[in-house]
Amino acid sequence: MRFCLTESRLKNQPDNKILKATRVAFYLALAFTFFVILIGMEMFDITVVGAGPVGLYAGFYAGMKGLSVHILDVAEAIGGQPMAIYPEKKIYDIAGVPEISGGELAENLQAQLRRVPHTLSLGQKVEKIEQRADGNFLLKTSAAEFLSRSVLLTTGNGLITPRKIGVDGEDAAHDSGRLSYNVSVLEEYREKTVVILGGGDSALDWALMLEPIAKEVHVVHRRDKFRAHAKTVADVAESSVNLHTPFTVSALTESGLSLQKVKSDERLELSADKVLVSYGSITSVLDVMDALDVTRNNKIPVSQEMASNISGIFAAGDVVEYREAPRVKVPLISVGFGEAVTAVSAIARQIDFGHKLTSGHSSTLFEKEEGK
Ligand SMILES: Cc1cc2nc3c(=O)[nH]c(=O)nc-3n(C[C@H](O)[C@H](O)[C@H](O)COP(=O)(O)OP(=O)(O)OC[C@H]3O[C@@H](n4cnc5c(N)ncnc54)[C@H](O)[C@@H]3O)c2cc1C
Repeated sequence: MRFCLTESRLKNQPDNKILKATRVAFYLALAFTFFVILIGMEMFDITVVGAGPVGLYAGFYAGMKGLSVHILDVAEAIGGQPMAIYPEKKIYDIAGVPEISGGELAENLQAQLRRVPHTLSLGQKVEKIEQRADGNFLLKTSAAEFLSRSVLLTTGNGLITPRKIGVDGEDAAHDSGRLSYNVSVLEEYREKTVVILGGGDSALDWALMLEPIAKEVHVVHRRDKFRAHAKTVADVAESSVNLHTPFTVSALTESGLSLQKVKSDERLELSADKVLVSYGSITSVLDVMDALDVTRNNKIPVSQEMASNISGIFAAGDVVEYREAPRVKVPLISVGFGEAVTAVSAIARQIDFGHKLTSGHSSTLFEKEEGK
């Protein structure tokens, strides 16, 4: 009624044209607002949470199958652990790729992903996932909300936060560039005395990688025995890398580090231009949905099809644990790639997307597209 009155009054106004234009602008603004709301709540066929190697590859594979894909990551850059922790370290165990750095792998995966339509939202932590009455999912991130018919969790070890030494001056040394938690630029270590802290694969891999370019490489570990692969330990033992075990760090000094021998009064001062801390990363708790089964180790138990206990939510990569025997899970990129394919194929089989999916081998699909 009010609307009609406004309408009739308008007709009697002298500067009708201005009012008409105002009215048109008002309706356009209204239509635009509805459009924005609709776009903001676009329904994706699959939302992949985590743009690490497994999530990126899953996104590509889902796009190739004809699914509409949304990939979300809390980080500002794609690539997960290889990009965040070891962009310069070489990876030698991906099938068909004899040698590639973590950074190059991330770039290649993104180039592959670009072959298919997809939406990538970075800098957004997925905080909650709710299943609606119609079976679809509402994902609430730190910045927005999104709808999806299915969800693939590829969150790896969660938010990548390096474990610190916990000594005074650590943050200041990190800010000044003297102390790092990963090797981002190899050249920064050229002709430097480097002290690596840690006894796992990463610590020893870095020791071998830096040995040819650094002036000296030292590894400090709190146990006599290293946790790395036997071959890596043997390679380090044969190299010029200096090993100090069992020692812990008691302080960072002006010129390097003060070390304390475990269960002994013996102390050791080491000079260092660069300190590389390789104590692993802190696993954040995956707490996105109350009903989702998550183990005490923060892993999602999955079926052979990579399905979680919630219908429509799947998981792949480092975040999973196998529900059925044999439950041995190898946390490697190549394994995660296979799991991504298994998960996306199961999603394509199980969920009714209301539209046709593509089938066939990649060669046939992309050749068709490229008109070969
Ligand atoms: C030093 C080191 C060396 C390694 N070397 C090798 C090697 O030589 N070969 C090999 O195969 N493997 C290697 N690995 C293991 C390999 O990196 C992992 O297996 C692989 O990264 C797992 O991939 P992913 O995609 O499952 O998880 P990740 O790489 O961990 O990626 C998970 C992504 O999810 C995001 N995320 C997490 N939680 C959320 C959330 N709530 N919301 C939004 N985003 C979220 C994270 O930011 C991250 O980007 C190495 C690992 C390390 C640490």
